[in-house]
Amino acid sequence: MYLYTYRDYPDLETLNIFGWCLNEEINLLVIVVDVNPIWWGQQAQRATELTLSKCLDAVMVLGNSHMAMSRTNKLSVIASHFEDSHFLYPGKSWRMGDSCGDDASSSGDGKYELLAVANNLIAEEIRKVMSKTEVRGNSTDTLLAGTLAKALCCILLLKKQLFTEIKSRILVIKAAEDCARQYMNFMNVIFAAQKQNILIDACVLDSDSGLLQQACDITGGLYLKIPQKVALAQYLLWVFLPDSEQRSQLVLPPPAHVDYRAACFCHRNLIEIGYVCSVCLSIFCNFSPICTTCETAFKIQLPQMVKPKKKKLKQPT
Ligand SMILES: [Zn+2]
Ligand SMILES: [Zn+2]
Repeated sequence: MYLYTYRDYPDLETLNIFGWCLNEEINLLVIVVDVNPIWWGQQAQRATELTLSKCLDAVMVLGNSHMAMSRTNKLSVIASHFEDSHFLYPGKSWRMGDSCGDDASSSGDGKYELLAVANNLIAEEIRKVMSKTEVRGNSTDTLLAGTLAKALCCILLLKKQLFTEIKSRILVIKAAEDCARQYMNFMNVIFAAQKQNILIDACVLDSDSGLLQQACDITGGLYLKIPQKVALAQYLLWVFLPDSEQRSQLVLPPPAHVDYRAACFCHRNLIEIGYVCSVCLSIFCNFSPICTTCETAFKIQLPQMVKPKKKKLKQPT
């Protein structure tokens, strides 16, 4: 794992304001939302049934329900952009007595204050993120591997700082297509999550994602490509709100078929059959006599040339 500085994640003091107390077991849900502006822009042109704001509304519904279910349930929301990722909640910038809190009390609808704070903060942060966006080129890749690494780092940091057991899982809401160039980083993140017993769930809005299918299969999470985008909030509440213990008692969608193709290390193409280095297990689509990862030289066994036997000339008698 790479070293990550927690510049945009709140310190313990701020977390305390959000009701994160020490010395109690925490059940943390980290929601990773793919906010790739190009994909969402194209989606808005294709159909207006699901826009980014409606998707975030659904995320808030899920987040609020998770926090309302138990006092020890905590929430983090990270936006995954095409170049970087941002913490939407909890935010570092928010302080006690900010406008969010006032709104909640002045509206007087009896809403739990923490839920109002979370919703306002997520809306405010996403507005900041999207207004800063400069779109260069037209690649619709999302930096998902980096965002997942950030989520893992945040969970591990909390584990270290809080000195308590943390039950945690990550839910990825995926919009844009997979990016084969991130294959290696992605797999590293998945195996790190598996080692730490962190579930990865995936809710896929558009085309199937082989990387996330593998992530869910390896970590024991649920993978679901939703059949109807309009019903996103319903799927989130039905499938992804219950944690792994409650899931065994529910009738959930059947497990998806997993695409276990690997990306070659030379071109990052997904391949079914390839050459594997016997020393470092790197995968290549073409044979090369020297492994580019570990520099092992291979001897090629060529079929031996058989010299044609000379025909004995019959001597004339
Ligand atoms: Zn290749
Ligand atoms: Zn090798």
